[in-house]
Amino acid sequence: MQRLLVLVFFVFLLGGCAEVPKETVSLPSPAKRPLVIEPKKEETPIVLSIPRVPVAKKWKYVVVHHSASPSGSADAFDYFHRVKRGWEGGLGYHFVIGNGHGSGDGQVEVGHRWLYQSHGAHAGQAEYNQRGIGICLVGNFEEDYPSPQQMANLVALIRELQQLCDVPSENVVLHRHIRDTECPGRNFPYYEVLAQLLR
Ligand SMILES: [Zn+2]
Repeated sequence: MQRLLVLVFFVFLLGGCAEVPKETVSLPSPAKRPLVIEPKKEETPIVLSIPRVPVAKKWKYVVVHHSASPSGSADAFDYFHRVKRGWEGGLGYHFVIGNGHGSGDGQVEVGHRWLYQSHGAHAGQAEYNQRGIGICLVGNFEEDYPSPQQMANLVALIRELQQLCDVPSENVVLHRHIRDTECPGRNFPYYEVLAQLLR
């Protein structure tokens, strides 16, 4: 009986094998050449040329903001800060990076506070106003996203500032890290920026 069972099982196996189709499953053929992801032209970082001014020793942080407006420029924010807010020093940021509405997409505008190495008016915290370099990206990143060119140039700008001022990457912060605010908006990809700075 036991032998019979083994035999039946063996025949079953053979029968099973015989039913396997002979043709092999064809897998998609491998790509003929490696996939190369070309950087898009518009994402190429510009070669920044921050005006060479004697850099003060005080800078310790970089603070990133959004304008919370769909358009803008250094001039527009300067007017707003000077006239509407009544700040004598005008534009509170050191740099403004445009989004194509009001100034060029990714255009880095250098504020007079950077040229004169004077403190900012952007952080709402004395330490970060005195020692933080304020960069404002035009846009409302609660609703929209920064453009690829804005991001590329932001990273290029921060890198240059880090070299000039010896600011470590952990001191590159968002406005909301230091004050109760949404700035620079929930869609701002902070960790992408950090990852690129650490590369
Ligand atoms: Zn802010």
